[in-house]
Amino acid sequence: MTVLPNAPVDVVVVGGGLSGLVAARTVQATGRSVRLIEAATQVGGRMGGQRVPIPAEARTAGCRDPWIDLGGQWVGPTQTRVLALLDRFDIRRFESPHAGETVLFFGDHRCTFAGFFQGFPEGQPPAVPPADWADAMAALERFQALAARLDEGHPHRHPVAAELDRSSFQDWIDANTHTPFAAWYFAYFCRAVGFLGPAEPEEVSLLHVLWGQRTAPQAEHPELELLHGGAGQLPALLAEELGETAVVTGEPVLAVEEDPAAASPFPVTVRSERAAHPCRAVIVAMPPAMVARLHFSPELPADRRELNAAMAMGACAKVLVVYQRPWWRQRRLAGIAIGDRPWVELCADSSDPENGCGVLAAFVVGHRYRRWAALDAAQRRQAVLDDLAAYLGPEALDPLAVVEKDWPTTQFVGGAFAGWMPPGLWSRCGEALRRPHGRVFWAGTEVAERWPGFFDGAVRSGEEAAAAVLARLS
Ligand SMILES: Cc1cc2nc3c(=O)[nH]c(=O)nc-3n(C[C@H](O)[C@H](O)[C@H](O)COP(=O)(O)OP(=O)(O)OC[C@H]3O[C@@H](n4cnc5c(N)ncnc54)[C@H](O)[C@@H]3O)c2cc1C
Repeated sequence: MTVLPNAPVDVVVVGGGLSGLVAARTVQATGRSVRLIEAATQVGGRMGGQRVPIPAEARTAGCRDPWIDLGGQWVGPTQTRVLALLDRFDIRRFESPHAGETVLFFGDHRCTFAGFFQGFPEGQPPAVPPADWADAMAALERFQALAARLDEGHPHRHPVAAELDRSSFQDWIDANTHTPFAAWYFAYFCRAVGFLGPAEPEEVSLLHVLWGQRTAPQAEHPELELLHGGAGQLPALLAEELGETAVVTGEPVLAVEEDPAAASPFPVTVRSERAAHPCRAVIVAMPPAMVARLHFSPELPADRRELNAAMAMGACAKVLVVYQRPWWRQRRLAGIAIGDRPWVELCADSSDPENGCGVLAAFVVGHRYRRWAALDAAQRRQAVLDDLAAYLGPEALDPLAVVEKDWPTTQFVGGAFAGWMPPGLWSRCGEALRRPHGRVFWAGTEVAERWPGFFDGAVRSGEEAAAAVLARLS
């Protein structure tokens, strides 16, 4: 294949997810030239979705082809950077549907309650034995106190970091709970909350989990709102604003080469199979696990290479189940269910009120994901529907459509919701997460110091990487 030289630009951004799009936009706003290169055929990465065609007979009943988000979908009130961006593009928000009771399934026991918990409890507690609940709440208090000891920002420089980083979250659960319910409460927290990867508690560093609690707390309600038309509409709007000539899609970058001794004003070259892009500086806007696939010259330092190799992506599939209407509301259920079912530990009502259909978002995570992914398509679908029926009722077995998104096998992304650190990695390699490599700067939600793993973290990291590059170029 012929490799075409492209016109030099000030900054090349590698990766067209939210962080890369925001980085490119921030650079462009200063009058500098920018080119964003995305490997997939469309921008968006972990922020994307699709419209689901509904059969004609169902459509007449008021349910019109709904948009579903295959990646992220919720935002919360303190996620100020992403909210500003949504406002800029006039993307309207609505409160996530939550009227009605939550379902909890634990062991063989199903109950409904006027509350919720995902890390911290709200409203009425569920009808589990009081001793179990007291055990979980006492441990939660200790967990929150430990997280509050961390400073803001990346955690590895904190005086107690090395000690906390030696343990897995499971070590802490074992030492701090004595009932199976309380142990599951924290394991579920670890798998259900975005900043953790998600990960199984025995896989992830205690320090990483505490850092997530400190910088992206559920107490700030990051799932309070959904977006009319879906979150997945934003990347295309950002790309359109950047302009056709500034965005290249379908071009996986293979290498980033810098010649520090070069006399040229464009000492960096970003290479794909198709083209060479000379520039003054580069922002690599993707999770470390994807950075691991690029070749760098000069070679990255040892701690950054280890970080790329060891910071795993979460093992998670998101399954969207579309019904003619949100039938669970007639049962006075909120469509939010949590529990230790075989496949789905969390599902939530994601129906847009401007559309008549009912949409449930179900998550299959960690070891459950690994077992589920080994099934055939019919078994996977049935597994999810069976769990939804156990939680919410038999109507769950009769959907109009089931759309599954297997993130770990998605090319150029490799997992969901985000990357996570096993024990020891923050202590050994935390410094490398954001440290520039010559003229190469890093963005991506994993790099953020506030709301890592979320859209807001992606926006912040894009803005901050752009500011660092602009400072360097001036
Ligand atoms: C199922 C799921 C649910 C989520 N739920 C929420 C939520 O409700 N709320 C929330 O705030 N966040 C949520 N998130 C997280 C949120 O989607 C991410 O934090 C955010 O979208 C990450 O953006 P990013 O730019 O950092 O990374 P990415 O979106 O991963 O972007 C990286 C880009 O780099 C590209 N790329 C990779 N390799 C190359 C290469 N060699 N050359 C060129 N390009 C390359 C990829 O194709 C990708 O487009 C969720 C994510 C998932 C997957």
